[in-house]
Amino acid sequence: MNSFRFAALSAALCCLFALPARADLNVVTTVPDLAALTKAVGGDKATVTTLSLPTQDPHFVDAKPNLALALNKADLLVVVGLDLEIGWLPTLQLGARNAKIQSGNPGYLDASQFVKVLEAPTVKVDRSQGDVHPGGNPHYLHDPRAAVAVARGIQERLAQLDPKNAATYQANLAQFTKSVEAAQADWEKRLAALRGVPVISYHKTTAYLGDWLGFETIAYLEPKPGIPPTPSHVAQVLAQGRQRKARLVVQEEYYPDSTSKLVASKIPAGLVILPSGANFRDGETYVQRMERLVKAIEQGLAASKGG
Ligand SMILES: [Zn+2]
Repeated sequence: MNSFRFAALSAALCCLFALPARADLNVVTTVPDLAALTKAVGGDKATVTTLSLPTQDPHFVDAKPNLALALNKADLLVVVGLDLEIGWLPTLQLGARNAKIQSGNPGYLDASQFVKVLEAPTVKVDRSQGDVHPGGNPHYLHDPRAAVAVARGIQERLAQLDPKNAATYQANLAQFTKSVEAAQADWEKRLAALRGVPVISYHKTTAYLGDWLGFETIAYLEPKPGIPPTPSHVAQVLAQGRQRKARLVVQEEYYPDSTSKLVASKIPAGLVILPSGANFRDGETYVQRMERLVKAIEQGLAASKGG
């Protein structure tokens, strides 16, 4: 009798707990690419939100109260780091009233620790000079090798915060890594002609792309990272671009494109508008986002042949 009642009760409890489709972890990321990586690893065990959209410049996000509210309920906050979010994230962390996601706690993950950082300063940089990258270049998510390393770091942290689902996170990571590595081989083949090509970039977003694909960024349209182009600087870049026969002018979709267009037409070179992040809210994966990026570069290269 007792054992029967126990079995019935267990069955009821089991179904009660199985019913809600609530995920086990609530994760907030600062940028959509990190959200795509976290979703790939977390699968249905994690609810993932991103604080900024691909159309927003991640250096300058408006710290609106609804973003602090999202952070209030978060178990984990994943950031790009290297000061990319320094202009807006600390305000939101403070407003979130959530001890878990404060820097230094297990619910705070700086993804830059998993990446080989490029352009790390050898001397102390003064932020007042207008450089938004005093700790090294934070635009590493354009490099699929870095994305895999970051996904592995996210998997470790998810397993630490939610050990009962550790095996799922590990399996998801393995699947993600496989999909990226297969795509990466294809991307490298398609962009093999980019090796050694001189490129002009609007902002310092091409460092890791260039490191991966072997092209050379010879000049930036911004006189300093975070400072919009000035006429005298643009004239200088144009002269450099003509002299070095730059093939591409590259920029993120969130920057105004008039200067890039002008310089590309005067060199002449192909204009490439890089997708700046995964359309995560529409369900786009990291591989799909990088496929768009590779396609944009392919088209720019093809256009520059005609020039
Ligand atoms: Zn930047």
